Amino acid sequence: MRRSFIKLVSSSVLVFFLLPYKFLYSKTKKIINQNLSEEQKNILFNEGTEQPFSSQLLTEKREGFYHCANCGAKLFSSSSKFDSGTGWPSFSNALPGVFKTKIDYSFGMKRIEYHCANCGAHHGHLFNDGPGKNGKRFCNNGLCLIFKPIN
Ligand SMILES: [Zn+2]
Repeated sequence: MRRSFIKLVSSSVLVFFLLPYKFLYSKTKKIINQNLSEEQKNILFNEGTEQPFSSQLLTEKREGFYHCANCGAKLFSSSSKFDSGTGWPSFSNALPGVFKTKIDYSFGMKRIEYHCANCGAHHGHLFNDGPGKNGKRFCNNGLCLIFKPIN
């Protein structure tokens, strides 16, 4: 009895240390929108990436705001959207405090990944080759965004 208890404790300690950081990190994310598609969930919660030039938002030119597809938080204004030619919706700036960043070393690259500060969902990567004064380019998966026009 005592022996199996010790075995149980030691194996759970081992599992804890073996858990990759990514998994622990993803545990802090929560699904709020129950209507998300499998592809949306893969991007938002497993840091996936949609196919380039697949997003309908690439051609969206109306005035309005882009919201988190999971929690609905307002993330970008249409005034910061630009055509980067990369195939993903791109923005020169985000609304203040809406994202948190972390360094992403996947695919042998060092990139800055950003996620929604409200729900923790992954949105895209931040680059320093943007056209605005701050030089930022938010490269965002279109499937992570919901556009709401002003009128
Ligand atoms: Zn969110």
